[in-house]
Amino acid sequence: MSFEKLIGNKKVKRILNNIVESNNVLHSYMFIGKTGIGKKEFAKEFAKSILCNEEYKKPCENCKSCIGFEENNNPDFKMIEADGKSIKIDQIRELTEKIVEKPIISSKKVYIINDADCMTKEAQNSLLKTLEEPPEYAVLILIVENESKMLNTIRSRCIKIEFNIIEKEELKLYMNNISDNILEACEGSIGKLNSILEKKEMYEEIENFVEKMHTYNALDILNNAEILYNNKEDILEILDYMIFLLYKRILENKSIRIINIIEEIEKTKKRIISNSNFDMSIDNLLFNITDNM
Ligand SMILES: [Zn+2]
Repeated sequence: MSFEKLIGNKKVKRILNNIVESNNVLHSYMFIGKTGIGKKEFAKEFAKSILCNEEYKKPCENCKSCIGFEENNNPDFKMIEADGKSIKIDQIRELTEKIVEKPIISSKKVYIINDADCMTKEAQNSLLKTLEEPPEYAVLILIVENESKMLNTIRSRCIKIEFNIIEKEELKLYMNNISDNILEACEGSIGKLNSILEKKEMYEEIENFVEKMHTYNALDILNNAEILYNNKEDILEILDYMIFLLYKRILENKSIRIINIIEEIEKTKKRIISNSNFDMSIDNLLFNITDNM
């Protein structure tokens, strides 16, 4: 079964596997959990399995439906995503018009609504009728982070599948040349991990700077702080990562001065957000770090 290649959420894998294998697919599911932990990938595999025409071992990867799915060309599948910041009523109207047309190459028809919690109230209301009286072949998968943004009437009609963040050890299996700090900083989110990995060198340099900071004198600090001066675009991310690393250090050896440094970094973030002179803000931060060493 192809859920195996997805990371984490073993319990969800079991549940979805059972649904597919027992051929007991209901009309509407709500996949709930934090952003970046793989809900969309799970939903796509689930959809592909539901649509597969093979009786055993779904998805078979060989039938017309599976092949079409892989080529983004399965007429019985559609993914609806936000148009700008929200999913609008027109998008849902289109869904409700199309869903009544019978499936073409599969025995089912699957719609995924990604970030369904950004549907406008009107869009949600317009979806309600389909959820109340779905065509017998239709399956809807709503992916949400914040369930409380969904109308109760919608929530009550969906089978809820809850996703957990991914454990550090599981992420480690997926990525083995990553520091423990980075694995912890991504808080169980593959999405966040991937975005950190795009800037891996920057993250490693910050780690190095924070790690050696306490051995530096004022001049060393200045000489090693290029990472701060040269990354204006990413500075808030850098400062957040510094704070994260420093908090970890407090847990390890309870230094009070580290708290002062964290406060200085927080102040620096505010200065930068309010458009203070960039270099001066960094100068000032480094001066304060030296002062607290
Ligand atoms: Zn198939």
